[in-house]
Amino acid sequence: MTLWFATGNTHKQTELAAILSGHSIKIPPEGGIFDFNPPETGNTFFDNALIKAKALYRLLKEPVIADDSGLCVDALEGRPGIYSSRYGAREGETLSPSARNTLVLEELGDNPQRRARFVCAMVVLLSQDRFFAVQEILEGEILREERGRGGFGYDPIFSIPERSCTVAELTEEEKNRISHRGKAGRRLAALLSTEGL
Ligand code: IMP
Repeated sequence: MTLWFATGNTHKQTELAAILSGHSIKIPPEGGIFDFNPPETGNTFFDNALIKAKALYRLLKEPVIADDSGLCVDALEGRPGIYSSRYGAREGETLSPSARNTLVLEELGDNPQRRARFVCAMVVLLSQDRFFAVQEILEGEILREERGRGGFGYDPIFSIPERSCTVAELTEEEKNRISHRGKAGRRLAALLSTEGL
């Protein structure tokens, strides 16, 4: 089926299109009828995913998919969490992904407790009041410096101990196989298929 993806993040679109390859994933055109960027006022990843899904559904009245994701670092009491994309932002000026990584590394300093996880809440909103929602995670550790050039966001500082590499050192396919977004997307695809969609 065709699902409109409530995001402006083209990295996420590429990942989701590969994960939900049996479906057509479209994003609202940039500079089109609207700039899609609803305020993420929720207190949880799920709240924000549903806010994005409902905002896009109101505009299109067609099935939409939305996610809200981020990095939660145990020693930072779960930060950056739902603020991952705007971490360290001041007066409307957001930091670059690399500056956000530096900020997390500085905040952690030499703390030996490096446990962290990526979280992804994902919602498919089929009609005004009908949705499927899932939330998945990828467990890992925060390195002491960036490593790797793939992926996006916090991938270069997020290491997967079993693989002895960062997410930024994985191929796209490898990342999708294990990632929070990959797992969430496949669970939703399975739910859609039980509905014959
Ligand atoms: P969202 O678009 O509001 O869901 O913000 C997600 C933010 O969390 C991104 O801008 C990244 O900073 C971070 N993030 C989410 N998923 C990933 C991932 O797979 N790799 C690296 N960073 C991620």
